[in-house]
Amino acid sequence: MIVEEKRVLAPLTTFKIGGPATFFAQVKNFTDLEEVQKLGKAQGLPLFVLGGGSNVLIRDGGFQGIVLKPDFDFIEVYDNEVHVGAGTIIAHVVFQTVSLGLMGLEWAGGLPGTVGGAIRGNAGCFGGEIKDSVLSVEACDMQTGQFKNFTPEECNFSYRMSFFKKNPQWLVVQAKLRATKGNKDELMENMQSHIAFRKEHHPLEYPNAGSTFKNVPLASVSEKVKQLAQEQGVVKTDPFPVIPSAFLIDQCNLKDKEIGGAAVSVKHPNFMINKNHATAQDILDLIAYVKDTVHKKFEVILEEEIFIL
Ligand SMILES: Cc1cc2nc3c(=O)[nH]c(=O)nc-3n(C[C@H](O)[C@H](O)[C@H](O)COP(=O)(O)OP(=O)(O)OC[C@H]3O[C@@H](n4cnc5c(N)ncnc54)[C@H](O)[C@@H]3O)c2cc1C
Repeated sequence: MIVEEKRVLAPLTTFKIGGPATFFAQVKNFTDLEEVQKLGKAQGLPLFVLGGGSNVLIRDGGFQGIVLKPDFDFIEVYDNEVHVGAGTIIAHVVFQTVSLGLMGLEWAGGLPGTVGGAIRGNAGCFGGEIKDSVLSVEACDMQTGQFKNFTPEECNFSYRMSFFKKNPQWLVVQAKLRATKGNKDELMENMQSHIAFRKEHHPLEYPNAGSTFKNVPLASVSEKVKQLAQEQGVVKTDPFPVIPSAFLIDQCNLKDKEIGGAAVSVKHPNFMINKNHATAQDILDLIAYVKDTVHKKFEVILEEEIFIL
């Protein structure tokens, strides 16, 4: 295993933003994991797991610690299940299962990132969530070196949440996912329609990290805001009734609001984009501005979906 010093992290993220990590290691097997753990203990440095970098904002000063990138990259297909490594690109898993006429992951067509990142955040869209497919997850406690198989119940999934998100010392190593026989042509069409939707509605022409804020549970807002959202027909089930944060941001006329090189996307106002060589601080300032404006207008506190390191 090669351990790099002062590796700049920006190119490893979809935002293309972020300073260096004290150490960076790509781990390919359990021996590598052990070595990284020992290095962390010897240097007294914290560890951070980086998947596809599609849900993180890394600060300009970087990370005083060890960034490890799981390179457990495999897809094994069995009768009614698929075994996948945590470092596998989720789009590859979707494409392979759909190509074999296996149903269950087609909602994730075009979803960026890795299997590990998707499980940790219970990624979801178009009415699907990764939790619906999980049969079991193997993870490693990076503090003790203990490996454990988690049942779906133990994963404790909820909206963009899981046991692993609440307990970041656990690194997802691999997972078994449900995949049942379906109609290949229909699945392919379904997957392609999601990819096409993303191309049309997401600002993929600029570096970004997806939705900046979680959508807002309808049950948590005032009657006035609820009524406005219902009148405008924007309430979605995701997986419970929510008001899209994009709607609230748009109602504050924040589309194309710029701070430094960062901007609120015109195409999808819940996406903060790296429009012109933005720094992490530009994005953080924009996030703070958007939160403050939405709070003043609607008394809603937007909660970040992206992880800020
Ligand atoms: C254009 C675009 C569209 C998006 N659309 C959606 C969407 O529709 N729905 C959705 O839910 N998300 C969406 N996202 C966000 C993102 O793609 C997902 O959250 C994705 O699952 C993150 O995976 P990742 O591997 O990139 O994680 P990273 O960004 O690398 O990491 C995110 C977090 O997960 C942790 N992590 C990563 N790997 C592991 C592991 N093996 N074990 C434990 N923890 C780990 C990291 O430490 C970090 O805290 C979108 C992002 C972009 C850029």
